[in-house]
Amino acid sequence: MNVPEQIITFEGVSIKIKREDLLHPFVSGNKFRKLKYNLLEAKNQKKTVLLTFGGAFSNHILATAAAGFENGFKTIGIIRGDELVEKINQNPTLKKASEFGMTFEFVTREEYRKKTSEEFIQKLTQKFGDFYLLPEGGTNDLAIKGCEEILNSDDLTYINVCCAVGTGGTISGVINSTSNVQKVWGFPALKGSFLKEDIRKFANKDNWELVDGYDFGGYGKISDELIFFINEFYSKYKIPLDPIYTGKMMFGVFEKIKEGFFKKDEKILVIHTGGLQGIDGMNIALKNKNFNTIQFND
Ligand SMILES: *Cc1c(COP(=O)(O)O)cnc(C)c1O
Repeated sequence: MNVPEQIITFEGVSIKIKREDLLHPFVSGNKFRKLKYNLLEAKNQKKTVLLTFGGAFSNHILATAAAGFENGFKTIGIIRGDELVEKINQNPTLKKASEFGMTFEFVTREEYRKKTSEEFIQKLTQKFGDFYLLPEGGTNDLAIKGCEEILNSDDLTYINVCCAVGTGGTISGVINSTSNVQKVWGFPALKGSFLKEDIRKFANKDNWELVDGYDFGGYGKISDELIFFINEFYSKYKIPLDPIYTGKMMFGVFEKIKEGFFKKDEKILVIHTGGLQGIDGMNIALKNKNFNTIQFND
């Protein structure tokens, strides 16, 4: 499935943006790609329930709820933070996911850390019965297979391909579908030395590198500078970016152009992996702290 593409120019460098965010209103971007073959597998296995994990503003949680709803699955979300149980309706992500019929199980941060243990999974089976398990962030072999469909044959002329990195699943699929003369640059949205190892597990080429320095202090952390950048980017190019992944990546891409790291004659392809659903929740948090908010004004 091909998505719309837009070409923008920054300091004389041409950048093609692949609008994966436009794939679906709620199952946005890479989460759509990651779910595709997992949903087929769940159907093959005659499963009727999808169970997965995520934080309060998780793109993957909402994507699973919406895709599950559309494909006739019941969905269960194991959510980090037991304090959220009272706040579903104040949280735009959880509210929307519950409208798609998702059942929540709120767990403490401590319990959440044990989520991959056999004991924890067994407890969930006792409580909810049989289910098809999707890992946090949706990354598994079938998710990588789906992400291998992000690039198409026209994209092979782009020497530089840029992608935001969370668990590393998306970039792994992208890497697997590149040619050897291409180079994939990953912009991590969080701190973590484990990322490279994780990508090596799934990627079958080594034509990639991580570009550090644009995580803005860690996962979900943002600054006024980033918000200003996202708002300016929209004013100039009319393309919305999210503050957790694509905003940080694009900020990094622009900095690397300013530094001369990306050269004028090298075309750049940037993947917009989506995540726009998280903006409302982020703006509520920003307002509570009296910070500037993300505003897409025309
Ligand atoms: C989840 C997500 C990512 C990270 O994808 P991984 O496969 O976990 O690396 C990037 N961008 C957006 C918008 C996301 O929602």
